[in-house]
Amino acid sequence: MVKALVLMSGGLDSILAAKVLEDQGIKVEAVTFVTPFFGSVSAQKAAEMLGMPVHIIDITEEHLKMLKSPKHGYGRFMNPCIDCHALMIKKAGELMKRLGADFVATGEVLGERPKSQNRNALRVVEKESGMEGYILRPLSAKLLDETIPEREGLVDRNKLLAIRGRSRKPQMALAKHYGIDEYPSPAGGCILTDPMYAVRLRNLYKVEAEPSAKDVSLIKIGRVFLSSEGAIIVVSRNEPENNTLMQLAEPGDLIFEVQGFPSPLTMIPKNSFGEDTVFEAAVLTARYSKAKGEPEADVASWKFGEEARRLIHVEKPSEAVEIIPPKDGELARIVRK
Ligand code: SF4
Repeated sequence: MVKALVLMSGGLDSILAAKVLEDQGIKVEAVTFVTPFFGSVSAQKAAEMLGMPVHIIDITEEHLKMLKSPKHGYGRFMNPCIDCHALMIKKAGELMKRLGADFVATGEVLGERPKSQNRNALRVVEKESGMEGYILRPLSAKLLDETIPEREGLVDRNKLLAIRGRSRKPQMALAKHYGIDEYPSPAGGCILTDPMYAVRLRNLYKVEAEPSAKDVSLIKIGRVFLSSEGAIIVVSRNEPENNTLMQLAEPGDLIFEVQGFPSPLTMIPKNSFGEDTVFEAAVLTARYSKAKGEPEADVASWKFGEEARRLIHVEKPSEAVEIIPPKDGELARIVRK
């Protein structure tokens, strides 16, 4: 039996790509990818709805390496879509061989995303992934070159589609035909397309040349500042963010909390700070706590994983530092008064 491995995002296009192939009697399995920037929940839900097995592959390490300097550049924000697609297809190709599948399929639609889904970008992805001829895009296949599985008669090209462009109408009609009425938004899910996150990430690269999975996850939460020494300070905004911050904390990270008042948690990632940054983090912690209007506050600071605590005395928390609002792609900056 012919077997296909479909890259499943959980969006409508990838669901439809799987359905179109199943309609030809092809056995379809799904593959999806995980990094700190996007997860597998939508894809898992979609695969469950379609009743097909789903393989989840964590590509964090390679994605982080690629993200620093993507060969084909970024999209509008920090989304390196062409390199990201090539990486995913390469990984899917490796899995295809292990599973004994015949080809890889995607839900890509020619011209739907002008930068990453034009003819040239699709070809670049094929070449970079080493999967030339083995990537079938069922929704636009009739507009594209014949693939090896079509040539070999494993797939009937006549039953594939010729959808092009940004109108979602053909996909909606197809969804109706298949009785699919619930699916996630097609654009959602990847934080690299978020403008605010892009600013944070660009600034993180200035501070940390090789950010870890923890570093890029930390800047997803809270308020993020640049200290007067150029270090990153993250101040949580609520209880769930407090929890996330503590889950991400590693030995050596410096944590702050105001004594005697409801307080956010603040973190300075390890190895990136001097005494000025420590003081500024203490002030920010007090400033965003219930001690904000008090004449003074004591802020406890400790290295994650160590018992010893240090108390930092802050006078007039609301005035002790100046916060320069973010502008021109910069983070909010702290200036000592
Ligand atoms: S939007 Fe994000 S997940 Fe999708 S291809 Fe671009 S970088 Fe990769």
